[in-house]
Amino acid sequence: MENQRVKNKVAVITGAGSGIGRAAAMKLAEHGAKIVLVDLLDERSEKTRQAIRDAGGEAIFADTDVSDPARVEQAMQEAAKQFGGIDILFANAGVNGTLAPIQHLEPEDWDRTLGVNLKGTFLSVKYALPHMTARGGSIVITSSINGNRKFTGFGMSAYSASKAGQVAFAKMAALELAHHRIRVNAICPGAIETNIGQNTHPTPEVNDIKIPVIYPEGNQPLERRAGHPNQVADLVLFLASDESSHITGTTVYIDGAESLL
Ligand code: ADP
Repeated sequence: MENQRVKNKVAVITGAGSGIGRAAAMKLAEHGAKIVLVDLLDERSEKTRQAIRDAGGEAIFADTDVSDPARVEQAMQEAAKQFGGIDILFANAGVNGTLAPIQHLEPEDWDRTLGVNLKGTFLSVKYALPHMTARGGSIVITSSINGNRKFTGFGMSAYSASKAGQVAFAKMAALELAHHRIRVNAICPGAIETNIGQNTHPTPEVNDIKIPVIYPEGNQPLERRAGHPNQVADLVLFLASDESSHITGTTVYIDGAESLL
């Protein structure tokens, strides 16, 4: 196929079974990348793998909880063993977790959200690196506009803290890894039509938080609707490909100006 923008690159995508991760996996495969799908054991990942293969692409699935160091290390080893190394890491697995006012947010809720979103990002980068440093590459991290916004939604202190942490981590990683020719960028989607709400558990007390609702959820100025995973996948493809060869350490908002409201 002509115009394949990541031809023969090896791309590891966490949270690849659904939403943004799935759309990015399909897009990168369409553009010639060999895909390693990393997600919890779930039929959705198998479906993504099959869809890539049906379209003539190459993909394997490494069932992995990204908060589990041993398993993440293993998944990256499987990726390198299968395809000879790693060029692209899309650290994207995430949960919205328990929504609760801070006084009702349990320490274990905090640990779970930070464990998947922030520690999971760290572990994915840490264990991908041994397979990336010799060849250079691109790392893209899914943060969120919730990491840097005045009104972040009800009961989202843990989620927002994890998302802000990912942006800071991406910047330091970009500095640390520049001499390996590894670029690291964070993306901050606004509301996107995905399944992340299914992993969200509002407590009854969340309604006690008194913050004025300024605009209806997902009502973005540009298109008056939430974004589509495919729109985010286009950005991931650009940041993963050599077309963005001078872009590192930056944070790209993809939210139809939602964060400016
Ligand atoms: P979004 O695309 O907006 O991030 P989704 O919920 O559709 O929202 O996708 C998130 C993906 O991350 C899902 O496929 C989910 O299974 C995956 N995921 C969640 N927690 C983990 C985890 N601990 N390890 C690996 N993948 C995870």
